[in-house]
Amino acid sequence: MILYSLQCAEGHTFDEWFSNSGEYDTRKTEGGLVCPECGGTDVTKAIMAPRVAASAPEPAAPTCMPGGCSRCVG
Ligand SMILES: [Zn+2]
Repeated sequence: MILYSLQCAEGHTFDEWFSNSGEYDTRKTEGGLVCPECGGTDVTKAIMAPRVAASAPEPAAPTCMPGGCSRCVG
């Protein structure tokens, strides 16, 4: 089973399960993809957002040049 994030022409996004990648094309061709919010059948695959950690790690502090920088030495 594959979970696709889908988006209708109105911009509504929803998730739909498919048994394989070909079923998406079949159901789209047959008009079997319907937005649950507006009933629109002009549905496309939304860009899959990568899973993002809830809190991003702090960026590493910039490293000094060998021998120290003006902040270290000065
Ligand atoms: Zn919609």
